[in-house]
Formats: sequence, structure tokens, C-alpha cells
Amino acid sequence: MAGTILEVKGLKVYFPVKRGILFKKTVAEVKAVDEVSFAVNDGETVGLVGESGCGKTTTGRAILKLIEPTAGEILYKGKDIAKYTQKEMLPLRREMQMVFQDPYASLNPRMSVMDIITDPLVEHKIITKHEKEERSKVLLETVGMNPRYMNRFPHEFSGGQRQRIGIARSIALNPKLLICDEPIAALDVSIQAQVINLFQDIQEKFGLSYLFIAHDLSVVRHISDRIIVMYIGKVVEIAEKRELFKNPLHPYTQVLLSSIPTPDPKRERERKRIELEGEIPSPLNKPKGCPFSSRCPYAMDRCREEEPNPVHLDGNHIVSCHLYQK
Ligand code: SF4
Repeated sequence: MAGTILEVKGLKVYFPVKRGILFKKTVAEVKAVDEVSFAVNDGETVGLVGESGCGKTTTGRAILKLIEPTAGEILYKGKDIAKYTQKEMLPLRREMQMVFQDPYASLNPRMSVMDIITDPLVEHKIITKHEKEERSKVLLETVGMNPRYMNRFPHEFSGGQRQRIGIARSIALNPKLLICDEPIAALDVSIQAQVINLFQDIQEKFGLSYLFIAHDLSVVRHISDRIIVMYIGKVVEIAEKRELFKNPLHPYTQVLLSSIPTPDPKRERERKRIELEGEIPSPLNKPKGCPFSSRCPYAMDRCREEEPNPVHLDGNHIVSCHLYQK
């Protein structure tokens, strides 16, 4: 039976808002991630979706300790790394890697592809400088690129190829967990599917687990086993992919699903898009009670007063909404 590679319990990331002389006085807190809990199993892909600003990227960065969590537990292979120092994190950096949204910004323009993808291996003393060429060849072939390109520089490649180079760098250290932060959002629609397929091939080959962050359910639909939906710092629903698409329970998930076009013209004509009123609230000024209450078509008095707790339903389906609370 598959084990759990990552368990996040009650994760909070709060950013102080400072004012006054030299910005020394904390006047408020932005609760970017607030009591977020979920797990990723070995070899599983968990999609993490929500509008921009909902805290999904901050969650990913906090798990890798690129941002210091305010509270909560981050259990990697059963060990709580939430309070690990950067030094204690070093050996784990090999096992937990991030794939970034903008492959161009994340690749050093002055480094050749060979240096970009093999320098981490030299730094960790896994290979010597003399072995860089051979390892680059293997890595580039793994991501579907011609090894002849290893001496070229990032600007010589298309967005899709640059993301392949970014993926080659991320898998160079043979990680166990990849946190993919909107890795196809900056790519042309025509090549998004190819990069998704590459992620799936690599997962199969190396037995990786993915936390796959996206702002759109249609992106995570093909790749995910389970899906987490976030709204202004909170998890509102978690379910197996099939279950979520067949039986979305949270009103916000229903809105996200209704915005996905279907390829069948007849069904597309019949598709009823649920339009939301108002803008996503600022995390500095969240509504009282349920975070979705200012936009939810089903909001009741209780929703504006009391925050819903997660309700665990049959089939590992979790939803935070008063409509399902007894
Ligand atoms: Fe809507 Fe109330 Fe459910 Fe929040 S708790 S999603 S406001 S029905």
C-alpha cells in the first residue's frame, strides 16, 4: 500500500503589514495561508487550484521552506520539517524540488544548459565536473530534448523547451516530491499538453509524487489523482478527481467547474456558467464567517457569522461549507 510522502497539518503563513517610521510597526496581518491541511501519497499527483492570490503558491513555497511558515506541521516522510533550519533542510533539498511557472526567469541566462542542469549535481558532489556532459545527455533525453543543445543558452529556446530544461534541472537530483507551480501557465496552449505528458512520463519512470499548482481546474484535470480547491487562504474542498468533477459540493468549486468549456458543441451550448458577483476579497479584509460568504449564491446568516469546519464525507470527500454541516 502506498505511504504518505507529505502531510501538511494546520499550516499558516501570515505576513505582517508594517507602517510607521522605517516600517517597524505591525498594523495588520495578511493570512495568506490559514489552517491548511492535506496529504500527498507516494506516487500520487495532487492538484492545488484556486484564483491567483488564494495562497496556493505560498503553500508550495512554505512546504519547501522557501518561505518560513507561521504555524502548523509539514511532515515529510513522517518528520516535521516546519521548524527545520536552512542547514537542516539541505539534505532534503535533493528530495523536494520545485518547478517554476516562468521557465525563463528561473534559468540563469548566462549559464549553458549543461551547467544549469548539472551544477546541482556537482554542488551535491554526486558527479564530478568531467561527468557533466554525460549526465546532461541523459537528462536532456529524459525530457525529450536533443543532447546537442547542451552548450546553448536559455534565450535560444522556445518557452516549451525552456520549461523542459527547468524540468531536467528539477529531476537531476533524483527527487521524490516535485512541487510544480503553474508550470504550464506561461506556455502556448498548443504545447501545454506536451509538457503535461512529459510530467506524467517522468512520474511513471521515477515514481515521483507531485503537488501540481494551477489556477484552472481544466489544467489539473488530466494529471491529478486528487484535487484540493483553495479560496483566499483556505482549503474549501478536497476529493478524488473523478468524484470532484462528478459531484462538486462546495459552491466555489461549482463555479470553477462551470467555467470549463467542453469540447462537445451540444454540451457546450447547454453549459450553464455560474457568474460570481463581486471581486475576490483582499486577504487583508476577509469576510467574517465563511471566506466565500461575500460571493456565495447560497450564503445564509450563519455563513456570515461562523466559519465552517471541514466535513469528512464518504469516499474521502472533504468540504468546508455549512450546507453539509449537521
Ligand atoms: Fe456558501 Fe455558506 Fe457554504 Fe460558505 S458556508 S460556501 S457562504 S453556503
